[in-house]
Amino acid sequence: MLDQSENCSSRVATTAHDEHDRRTKATGPIDSRHSSLHEFLVASQQDSLAFAERFEQLSAYVDDLVRRRHYHYRRVRTGGSAGLARLLDRDSGRVVEVINLASNDYLDLSRHPATIAASIAATQRYGAGTSASPAAIGNTDLHERLERELAAFTNCEAALLYSSGFGMNCGVLSALLRRNDLAIVDSCVHGSVMEGCRGAPMRTFAHNDLDALERILVRSRSQYANRLVVVEGVYSMDGDLAPLADIVRLARRHDAMLMLDEAHSTGVFGARGRGTAEHFGILGGVDIVAGTFSKSLGSVGGFVAGSRRLIRYLQMASRHYVFSASVLPSVAASVLEALRILDDEPSIRERLWRNVEYFGRGLRALGFDIGASASAIFPVMVRDDLKVKALCSCLYDDGIVVTPVVFPGVPEKQSRIRLSVTSGLEPKQMDHALERLAHHAKALQII
Ligand code: PMP
Repeated sequence: MLDQSENCSSRVATTAHDEHDRRTKATGPIDSRHSSLHEFLVASQQDSLAFAERFEQLSAYVDDLVRRRHYHYRRVRTGGSAGLARLLDRDSGRVVEVINLASNDYLDLSRHPATIAASIAATQRYGAGTSASPAAIGNTDLHERLERELAAFTNCEAALLYSSGFGMNCGVLSALLRRNDLAIVDSCVHGSVMEGCRGAPMRTFAHNDLDALERILVRSRSQYANRLVVVEGVYSMDGDLAPLADIVRLARRHDAMLMLDEAHSTGVFGARGRGTAEHFGILGGVDIVAGTFSKSLGSVGGFVAGSRRLIRYLQMASRHYVFSASVLPSVAASVLEALRILDDEPSIRERLWRNVEYFGRGLRALGFDIGASASAIFPVMVRDDLKVKALCSCLYDDGIVVTPVVFPGVPEKQSRIRLSVTSGLEPKQMDHALERLAHHAKALQII
């Protein structure tokens, strides 16, 4: 364990020599400062190793991260995910209170009394499990009601539930895309989209670059049976918005289908919280709308909405739907309640936006580079993996939890910490977080 009294900048301790080692791959015991997770998970040098060796190398890497206090995975929460959360501290074994800037539960609906009550009532009526896939006996009237409500919510003809957002993207895309189809995806889409596109030809275009998208659309004309453009309403690591109205126009003009992942925009954008499609005035104008229950809707699971025929196709052809147990009744009930709350309690969304504006103003005033963030997600650009890890450790020691985003999640030159704001955060908590962030960022020469 490193001395906890050392300051933030000494936790980086990187030199030109370190930098050279890091590039040329250090030999001997693993020093996590010279390696990235990528090397142990996907890099080709792992391909010929026996399982035992792969496990051993990754373990040694993680042990070194822990020793340097750079291990920021799998924190142990002992209660709800509020603005102030309780964690089990690994070093002391004690429960500590932290300001939570790592939650996607933007409206705090996972802890709303009405969502909790609805989920308890559904568990009592339907049981704790669903017993089978929806294709068998796992489907209930509650599931069907939620599908109807989500179709209305997105202004689409029909909707379908999946037990995770990740599984939804994989299940929808892998069912749609075949060898003669082309997926055309923004370079910043979530890993679940990439995973879903694996079995078909795929082209990526530079993030939010309409010209680059149009070039691919023009060049790929008449070579494929179908072309599917996939974008997100709000990008999960950048917090910026897709220029959605223009993308819809381009897709139509070039006869391509469009799939929009509203994971981080549902509940946050649009006058009634229906996402970026509502925000841009084109609700119902996107071919396939994808979403998750795990962010603003305060639960877990995913959904897709579109034409009646598309949904019927997925009901039969999407393996992640057909061969996986259905969404829990407690989840369906709490999401139905969350949709009602979005309509009936707009003050929660207003509180979120007051916090977003307050925190964003604070970050900008301190001189942080937060890219083009325009949502509840703020990337604080650091552009150095080691500094990201050190900054996260220092903030944690001050009772603040943030998400590190390093290679291979993003290219190292774009590494950052990701801060997310929720409606329940108090101004004094945000003030404290901003003050400590500025303090450590100055020590690390980030600002
Ligand atoms: N899409 C996007 C854009 C996401 O950010 C995520 C998760 N962060 C998912 C899909 C997967 O959703 P879930 O976590 O609910 O499985």
